[in-house]
Order: sequence, then structure tokens, then C-alpha cells
Amino acid sequence: IEEIERKDIREGDYVIIEKGGDVIPKVVHVITKKRGKDSVITIPPQNCPVCNSKLIRPEGEVAIYCENNTCPAQVKGKIEHFASRGAMDIEGLGKAIIDQFVDYNFLKSYADIYDLHKHKNELIALERFGEQSINNLLSAIEESKNRPFEKVLFALGIRFVGAGAAQKLAHHFKNIDNLLKASEEDIENIHEIGPSISVSIKKFFATSDNLEIINRLRKAGLKFAIESTGETSEALRDFTFVLTGTLEKFTRDEAKEMIQQKGGKVTGSVSKNTSYLVVGENAGSKLDKAEKLGIKILNEDEFLSLIESAK
Ligand SMILES: [Zn+2]
Repeated sequence: IEEIERKDIREGDYVIIEKGGDVIPKVVHVITKKRGKDSVITIPPQNCPVCNSKLIRPEGEVAIYCENNTCPAQVKGKIEHFASRGAMDIEGLGKAIIDQFVDYNFLKSYADIYDLHKHKNELIALERFGEQSINNLLSAIEESKNRPFEKVLFALGIRFVGAGAAQKLAHHFKNIDNLLKASEEDIENIHEIGPSISVSIKKFFATSDNLEIINRLRKAGLKFAIESTGETSEALRDFTFVLTGTLEKFTRDEAKEMIQQKGGKVTGSVSKNTSYLVVGENAGSKLDKAEKLGIKILNEDEFLSLIESAK
């Protein structure tokens, strides 16, 4: 929108474009000579083209938002995000089906996904769906209840809470109740979680509709806690870890806690007794030494899967 204002781009204009970045061509300037007499200045929309409620442009932001929670376009977008591969990964619940289910009022929020089974016969009766495809969809929905807490947290679609932030929040707070109780300060104390995220989280949880939806998802059996919470094991009893470099997905303290929960030890320097070196960005001399000693080296993802599989 700012770009349109700055360059005074109007409907029907001829423009010079250049290849910018990868795909999207960039408008260099408007050929005003070719502009018709009846051309009018482009005015950003004031109201949502779908639900007609007033649009909001947060201070310091470029984008304009429709903040009506029941706006069909918003509802569809949120459900699409919820079901998407990086979130709840519900196979078969794609954009076209979501559009149709929202239009037919089967889905008003993503919590309704877990009530779809109650409408099985009506869904089968809908045009272009057969019994088999509805059965497949319902079992994919059932299967999505196994997604871990961090995926559920990401799926909620809290603004600014991307997959990485959701993972950090889940590992730090362990369950939704701790996160609900947390102050903005508590949240910002997590490595690389800033005020925009903490403010957005508090705002999300201050909305009763959102709390209601979370309650329904809980009752449906989604995971709102990290599985390993409190359960300690001795699976890593004979293993010694060293951490080095800048860790992105968790802090050193969190990594240490994860290791200790499984009975492992963390030490500060690499020796022949080290079992694993966990490396982040810009790892230095410890990495060199571990390589010389032939010690197993894990990146963050490999470390997390080792922790998960150690039972
Ligand atoms: Zn709207």
C-alpha cells in the first residue's frame, strides 16, 4: 500500500516494470502520459472486502488487517494454517475443502474440525465427496491429535508465533497452563523471544473466544503439554554431552535440562570421555577437538531427535 501511495499507482495505469528478486516484478514508475483523464488516485480499502468490517493498520506496520474473528476470509485462513503441513498436518483438509465447509457452516473455527465426525452423513451427502474420502479425512483428523504440543501451539495461529518460536515456548513452559500464567516478562526472558511475540500471546489469551477454542481442543484430546514433562528416565545415564556454539532452538540451560532429565551428564570441555558434542552456529575449538578425537557431533535437530528417542 505504501508503495502504491509513494509511486501514485492507479487502476488502468501503464507501468515500467523490472525483474526484482526472484519472481515478483517490481514497478519502477508509472507512465503518466498514457494515463486516462478519468484516472483516480488509489485509496486503500477502509473495509474488509469479505465481511465489510473496518480494517486496522497497526502503527508502524505496512499491512492492513481485518480483525473480525468471524470474518469468513479470516476463518478460512486460520483453518488453512491450522491444518497445514507445518502445523497439524491434516491430510486432505486443503483450501478447497475448507472453503466449502466454512461456506456450508460446518466450520466456524478450527475447533470445529474435531466435531466434523458428528456430521459424517451430511458431509458424505455433500456434492463431490464420497463416503471413502470423508472416512479418510476423518481418520486424518483423528490422527492429527498425536501432534506434539509445539505443533499445536504453532497451529493456533497466534500472530508472530512462528514454528521456531512455538518450539521454544513449548520447551520452556512445558504446557499451556504455564504459558497462560506467564507474564510478558517471563515470555521475553526466553532466548530470542521479543516483545512483539509476548504482547501478541497475552492479547491472544485475553480473548475469551480463543480460550473457549483452546478448551474445546483440549477436550478433543489435542496435546497441550510436552510429553516428557516430569517423566525422567535413565536412558542417557552413561552419556556425557558438551554444548558449543550459538544454539538457535533452545538455550544451553534448556538443553542441559533435557539431557539431565534423561540421566545424562553435561560437562564444559571435550575429552575422550565425551559421548556427544552438540554444535550450534560458529562452533570453535571444541568442534576441532571433538573431530580430532572422533567424538560424535550432533546439530540441534539431531540432538532433539536423540533426546526424543531416548526412553
Ligand atoms: Zn473481514
